[in-house]
Amino acid sequence: MTRARMPRPHEVAAARRDPRLVRALSERDLDPTWRTRGLCQSVDPETFFPAPSEPADAAVALCRTCDVQGSCLAWALDVGDCHGVWGATTPRERRAMLVAWRSEVHSAPYDAERLAGMNVLRVLEQVGAASG
Ligand code: SF4
Repeated sequence: MTRARMPRPHEVAAARRDPRLVRALSERDLDPTWRTRGLCQSVDPETFFPAPSEPADAAVALCRTCDVQGSCLAWALDVGDCHGVWGATTPRERRAMLVAWRSEVHSAPYDAERLAGMNVLRVLEQVGAASG
């Protein structure tokens, strides 16, 4: 078994700007019932836990059309889940996001100010949730 390396600073910086993480920050604690509304409810759970050598494209594509992807990713980052696809992210992507997440979540006044100035529609478009 190989150990995952620590994310590099540029990876964390990119993760901090990732629209999926921004959405997760804005939708954290927004809807405690998000699990019951996930599109994955009607799909084989194995789809979301591919082997390391297998692509996660099918799961990520489904997540991108899911209304609760922000809450889902927020949950995965809150608990530090390192397995499977959550909120349209792979475990590898979440490693860098987790570092950014912990610093963002623990600096609440900064978050509120930053999120208040964001164009939410633009964020949703970038993550594919505002189309259709
Ligand atoms: S974002 Fe993906 S994993 Fe999360 S609830 Fe939606 S379909 Fe399921």
